[in-house]
Amino acid sequence: MLNVNEQKIDRITEAINHLLEGRAPDAITLESDAPEDEVAQLTRYVNRLISEYGAFSNFLFDISRGDLDSEAPKGRLHALHSLKNLQANLRHLTWKTNQIAHGDFTQRVDFMGEFSDSFNLMVGQLAAARAELLAKNEELDRISRTDLLTGLMNRRGALEALEKEVHRANRSKRPFVVIIADVDHFKRVNDTYGHDAGDAVLVELAGTFMECLRLEDLCARWGGEEFLFILSETDLPESFAVAERLRLGVENLQTLHHGISLQVTISSGMSVFRDGDDVDSCIKRSDLCLYEAKHAGRNQVWFQCAADTPASPLTSELKKPLA
Ligand code: GH3
Ligand code: MG
Ligand code: MG
Repeated sequence: MLNVNEQKIDRITEAINHLLEGRAPDAITLESDAPEDEVAQLTRYVNRLISEYGAFSNFLFDISRGDLDSEAPKGRLHALHSLKNLQANLRHLTWKTNQIAHGDFTQRVDFMGEFSDSFNLMVGQLAAARAELLAKNEELDRISRTDLLTGLMNRRGALEALEKEVHRANRSKRPFVVIIADVDHFKRVNDTYGHDAGDAVLVELAGTFMECLRLEDLCARWGGEEFLFILSETDLPESFAVAERLRLGVENLQTLHHGISLQVTISSGMSVFRDGDDVDSCIKRSDLCLYEAKHAGRNQVWFQCAADTPASPLTSELKKPLA
């Protein structure tokens, strides 16, 4: 028959065995009238060990499933200190990952051993992939606004530029002028000399237009053999000289194609966009003027000041003061 202390030692041994096997034992009951001897003291130590081990296990469980806000228990277990470090590191890593998610690719990790190297490699590659993607997007963006044959802005680019110009004009109350130019009898060039010859003429025209324009002006290929010009911060009388320069530039241009000199002319229509105007109406007015220029014999410029004024030819009298 075991005495009370022997029974206690048995319980203590059993509890320590459970701990060693990784099971969480219950605390050993210590009666209030138990003598204050070595067994009682040992029981208290083992109970403390059971309690600290239990709290540590719970904390470890929380951290292992990613609950980084779990509160660390009090206790002196050495492993607890390491676990708290791990918790702090994981929190720091989480913060860094968030920064990266928001586009800060300068973040690096140096406190997680081998994992740091893999993490840093991943961030570096992400940054490189993103930079490449941005560059490609920019290039695609540029291509989507560029005419492949002439290198000028295409219709999409022109429409966006017009939108920007409208905002600018409405803000500054300074008008801008829209010119639409169309190559005269261009079909004849293709029919007589071939499509390649026509292409060569279009390329040369683009170069001539750019030479005739001011830095702030814009030239786009509006469609087949039609070009659209935006003369920024300009009113009609100022733009007469530019339109005439474009017409003359083309008239004097000779495109050499396989030893043959090709010459064309353009007809142009122009109108002005003022604050509160409508860009579609403005383009329609320019188109209407172009139509008049064609009908009046081609190789000339027509303009319209506003919707309620008639289209008029740009006479030599009008050209004179500013040409
Ligand atoms: P108009 O003076 O009335 O404008 O006569 P046009 O011959 O210039 O007009 P039309 O609309 O009859 O013909 C335009 C021609 O422009 C037909 C089309 O094949 C040609 N064209 C359009 N785009 C290109 C291109 O990119 N390259 C070449 N070579 N020709 C083109
Ligand atoms: Mg045309
Ligand atoms: Mg034409």
